[in-house]
Amino acid sequence: MINLKALTGTELESFIKSLGLPSYRSRQLIQWIYERLAGDIDEITVFSKELRRSLKEKAYISNLQIIDRVISKDATVKYLLELEDKERIESVLIPDGKRLTLCISSQVGCPMGCVFCLTGTMGLKRNLHAHEIVDQVITIKREYPGITNIVFMGMGEPLLNLENTVEALKRLIDFMHFSPRRITVSTCGIPEKIEELYQSFPENPPNLAISLNATTDETRSRLMPVNKVYPLKTLFASLKKIPLPPRRRITFEYVMLEGINDTDEDARRLMKLLKGIPSKVNLIPFNPADGLEFKRPAEERILRFQKILTESHLTALIRKSKGEDILAACGQLRAYSAIS
Ligand code: SAH
Ligand code: SF4
Repeated sequence: MINLKALTGTELESFIKSLGLPSYRSRQLIQWIYERLAGDIDEITVFSKELRRSLKEKAYISNLQIIDRVISKDATVKYLLELEDKERIESVLIPDGKRLTLCISSQVGCPMGCVFCLTGTMGLKRNLHAHEIVDQVITIKREYPGITNIVFMGMGEPLLNLENTVEALKRLIDFMHFSPRRITVSTCGIPEKIEELYQSFPENPPNLAISLNATTDETRSRLMPVNKVYPLKTLFASLKKIPLPPRRRITFEYVMLEGINDTDEDARRLMKLLKGIPSKVNLIPFNPADGLEFKRPAEERILRFQKILTESHLTALIRKSKGEDILAACGQLRAYSAIS
């Protein structure tokens, strides 16, 4: 059986051709799967009953199963989703003013081992296929049609699963009509993969976010093992070469950890690092979880850190911790459900 969702546009076209059907049928399939969010061939009512029956002999449409859906007090919705092989991933829907942002996963687990991150403590189970990445959007869009933005900030390191991430991005842009300006790919910082991502979208790339989290190699290597391979100097040399389109900025995420990366000195070093790069900073107060021994800095410390940045004309937002009461930080629902 062929899973229609697992095919690229070109593969879908060849498949339709192999059945002796005209090529507009493949365009209809794309429209019904990605715009009308059909989860079953029988829902494609533009096809005759006869056509649906013969298609069903050879093909099907896979779907993610919603295992759990938890709504927090601040209206963040966290989904636990099951894949065809029973592995589980999570996606988080975050309403914020006019925006409705969906945070999606790119891998089951993550191999990067960042010590403040619950997904990191899980290790890597496997990469997601392109259709499993896109299917998070399809599944949740059925319940919330008004999703405006997509961020690759769920489980996993998207650039270690680059081929599937690029194919998923193409489908989100071409088939589901999300503007690349409304999609952000977040990475722990792998220079050659960042360059490859930009080469895949020479005209209009998605936004890029770098999880920076520290301002010295010593601290960053302690927090994020990737820094031992690509230290700050290497990472920033590569970021400075990126062909960023006009008026676009790179987002730098900075998880604030008490006594580790939250001093005035850190804020000043951060300013220096970002000099010459069109950037904005997201300060993320650490989300505590069992087994992670870090602490969130006091509110005044975070505000003081932000002030140092904004006084030197850097855009620095404090990302309010969303959905804390439902363990909505990276990897937490899955880890929680695994032990409960
Ligand atoms: N692997 C990619 C995409 C996942 S994004 C990346 O690291 O960029 C996950 C984001 O959540 C990262 O910015 C990470 O720094 C942040 N994060 C991870 N654990 C966290 C925690 N316990 N509290 C707050 N933010 C966390
Ligand atoms: Fe992986 Fe990102 Fe978590 Fe690091 S922060 S372990 S790269 S998901």
